[in-house]
Amino acid sequence: MSATTLSTSFSSGDTTTAIIIPGKQPLTISYQNLSAEILSFQKKLAKLGVTPEAAVSIALPNTYEFIVAFLASAWQRGIAAPLNAAYKQEEFEFYIDDLKSAVALVPKGSFEKDGAAVKAARKYKAAIAECYWNGQEVVLDVKDEGKLKGKGNQKVEQAQPDDVALVLHTSGTTGRPKAVPLTHKNLTRTMKNIKDTYQLSPADRTMLVMPLFHVHGLLAGFLAPLYSGGSVIVPLKFSASEFWDDFITHKANWYTAVPTIHQILLKNPPPTTKPNIRFIRSCSSPLSPTTFHQLEETYNAPVLEAYAMTEAAHQMTSNPLPPGKRQPGSVGIGQGVEVAILDQEGKKVKQGSEAEICIRGENVTKGYLNNPEANKSSFTKDGYFRTGDQGKLDKDGYVIITGRIKELINKGGEKISPIELDNVLARHPKVSEAVSFAIPDEMYGQDVGVAIVPKSGENLGEKELREWVSQKVAKFKIPKKIYFTDNMPKTATGKIQRRIVADTMMKQDQ
Ligand code: ATP
Ligand code: MG
Repeated sequence: MSATTLSTSFSSGDTTTAIIIPGKQPLTISYQNLSAEILSFQKKLAKLGVTPEAAVSIALPNTYEFIVAFLASAWQRGIAAPLNAAYKQEEFEFYIDDLKSAVALVPKGSFEKDGAAVKAARKYKAAIAECYWNGQEVVLDVKDEGKLKGKGNQKVEQAQPDDVALVLHTSGTTGRPKAVPLTHKNLTRTMKNIKDTYQLSPADRTMLVMPLFHVHGLLAGFLAPLYSGGSVIVPLKFSASEFWDDFITHKANWYTAVPTIHQILLKNPPPTTKPNIRFIRSCSSPLSPTTFHQLEETYNAPVLEAYAMTEAAHQMTSNPLPPGKRQPGSVGIGQGVEVAILDQEGKKVKQGSEAEICIRGENVTKGYLNNPEANKSSFTKDGYFRTGDQGKLDKDGYVIITGRIKELINKGGEKISPIELDNVLARHPKVSEAVSFAIPDEMYGQDVGVAIVPKSGENLGEKELREWVSQKVAKFKIPKKIYFTDNMPKTATGKIQRRIVADTMMKQDQ
């Protein structure tokens, strides 16, 4: 039977390598040592006063201490809440208050510096503890007991499958970020699905490049490989100049990333030794067919695009490994997850028609925290979760995403898919990046705006771009407004927030 809690998802007696922290003197940790370290940290959390359902905000970058703190919080039946360590005070306040966090874990030195996370934690009376590796163990140095004062010395707990292990917020691409609780069962189900999709085994070595404070890095880049008994190389952060050195030195054989990172790596190719890559996974944003082909040609490895969201504990669909068919422009097929294209009433539409992509599976959250309205509208009566993405199935059942329902450009009733336009524009030889969005229009309500980053050194004009688009798609989709920029705004994980791109570009008009 498959494990249904994080505390049973890998073997505590396994002496093979679980984690490598690269650097001048790399740190190598076996499964056995990792388990012992987590248990020891779990005891420290219990001593501080962490009880079942207490939220532990983890404001640490990708480090060994993050990994141990995260897993120990979940083993203790607490709710791990990873946060981007680079947030500003206001952002920390939002997340710490939203979860009524019992504890905030911060890097060494933060307390003395009175850093942003420390200030936010103090405001909401969360206990504050610095967390770091001292060469022997992961230290929990309690600086302020906050609301846990007098509530210490709790018992060491045993995690249960239906306990909430993790709360992450959605990326806030279409509105305010929503808090998504995920249980041990949700997480272990995704771990199994990812293991099965890519046939992960103890022989695999994953290079982690995505942050651990989002589902992409946490589930696909870290927990699924651990569940499969493989090794994970965990650099502090993604560095284009060090990536291939670490990849080759530590014999990694696959990585998963957003398209932006693939593009950066294509511009920073490996040094002399060709890495031996089993496959490359792309997820979280649309991968243009151009980048897909460039990647496959450059690395001589299959590129597998997947589709994921926070509410599904990450992965929903993926293109399969060979001999399965890879389809550029498609996010593949349901992987341990049921996928259906449903109309507004929740009825399946006929194959090839566009409607909302809906999913059902053990990985999916039961509902958002403190958001009854969103919960009511997010599930169909048959228990499907509405992703908010528009898409269709091709004749082989492969999912093609055509846009987010909230982001479709509605030009006088004609719906225009911004993703379709992005892809058409990105194929222009002088275009490096293209993002399409709705702009207000007196006549049609909305019309098409695009932001274009030209390839460096290229001279590109509006007329040339409009001609290109008019050769490829219907006339009503030709952009009304074209903005040239050399800096496309993105989130910390490299996602495009169309609304923010639109607002930034439209400011130029004022
Ligand atoms: P919010 O829900 O707050 O608006 P968000 O949906 O961006 O933000 P996430 O859960 O991080 O938050 O992202 C999930 C979304 O990312 C999906 O619903 C989909 O729109 C997009 N996405 C994920 N993978 C892909 C992909 N391969 N191609 C295109 N879009 C993708
Ligand atoms: Mg979303």
